Amino acid sequence: MALIHCKECKTEISSTAALCPKCGHPNPKAKHLSGKQVFAGLLIAGVGIWWMSTGSNSYVDSQMKKIETKVADDFVAKYQIAKREGDKMQICVQAGIVAASYLQAKDEANYQQWKQTEKADCRKAGISRP
Ligand SMILES: [Zn+2]
Repeated sequence: MALIHCKECKTEISSTAALCPKCGHPNPKAKHLSGKQVFAGLLIAGVGIWWMSTGSNSYVDSQMKKIETKVADDFVAKYQIAKREGDKMQICVQAGIVAASYLQAKDEANYQQWKQTEKADCRKAGISRP
């Protein structure tokens, strides 16, 4: 594919790119710009910004941790629903997801606790997990 220069910041970008990865300026040469492409471009730019700021920005870190803890909380709620419904297989699966999400949030204490819960629940469901 051909390379062109961004009108805004002169960065070399692909002629098919929906927008400039550096400044986000839309590429007028990109034909047929679907909403999906714009979304993907913004997502990539967002991830790039996030990636560049991790490690150096404790605010971002704390926000991420908040989001990850929220995600874990949501999975705990799903686990409790599975528990209410009494589907042993679901309970085992959900406990595993909760454990994984606490691991993601780097919440060691909760991770260890949920790992135990998962083990016990999966044993009840007839699945043995390492
Ligand atoms: Zn640009």
